Amino acid sequence: MTEAAIQQLLRTAGEARRWRDSLAPGVRVGFVPTMGYLHEGHISLIREARRRVPKGTGHVVLSIFVNPTQFGPNEDLDRYPRDELGDLEKAAQAGADIAFCPLDPDEMFSKASATWVEVPTLAAGLCGASRPGHFRGVCTVVTKLWGLVRPDVGVFGQKDFQQLAILRRLHADLFLGGEIVGMPIVREPDGVAMSSRNANLDPQSRLDARAIPRFMAEVRRRFFEQKLRARDELLAEAAARLAPGVIDYVQLVDAENLQPIERVERPALVAVAVQFPGARLIDNTVLTP
Ligand code: AMP
Repeated sequence: MTEAAIQQLLRTAGEARRWRDSLAPGVRVGFVPTMGYLHEGHISLIREARRRVPKGTGHVVLSIFVNPTQFGPNEDLDRYPRDELGDLEKAAQAGADIAFCPLDPDEMFSKASATWVEVPTLAAGLCGASRPGHFRGVCTVVTKLWGLVRPDVGVFGQKDFQQLAILRRLHADLFLGGEIVGMPIVREPDGVAMSSRNANLDPQSRLDARAIPRFMAEVRRRFFEQKLRARDELLAEAAARLAPGVIDYVQLVDAENLQPIERVERPALVAVAVQFPGARLIDNTVLTP
């Protein structure tokens, strides 16, 4: 393994702004915003940013910020896993050269901060329905980060499909500039989608979580092999198949507007959120007829 190190660690919004302002015109910036505790899913985003902004043409910025405004009062903010040192090493290895890791949440949401960014139509269903305010927090922090980093390209994961759809809308509506790129879900060898929250599952729940990719594989089999198209047929027996996980939602929605549908006639999304002891896990798969 070759040694790689982050060139610059930015700790405050002011430092981030000054760093960005110091770049000559034409120097490109790739950006990967995260909440840290990096896994191969995050790494794939950093690599993609580096591929699009090769060394010598610009910089790849990783941000690590566990954004309190996107957690509900009874959610896992205080249990969210953290490992900044390890993250910086992994990020550098994957090609990031700049890290923005605010030490203090007030750096992004000062006491005086009073502006919120929302995309209510896309945020109403799925995770937005069970996590009120979640996407408002996400949209607001990404808008702030985008304003500081002013990337040419921001890379996000399709594991958070609804988040990506919301951010694409926000990015277009607010003329944020640059480009948004979505990357496929990276999975563990047993099919479970990689997530920092997997670290909070006890060993038995981690095994039980395999029910999610198995269910997704079954839905895909029903769609592609059995040619089923009706929601009730595609999603049949979800509760039994996802047990002992407890379903938060299992839904079939239009892949573009995220509205619930009863039949697949154009690209659709099957999205699930399942609660296990220790963590609520999400996953999704796109069905294209
Ligand atoms: P997070 O740190 O969980 O907020 O995620 C930061 C970014 O990594 C988001 O764009 C996520 O969609 C993306 N991401 C998280 N898990 C995965 C995964 N398993 N595969 C691909 N991207 C992911």
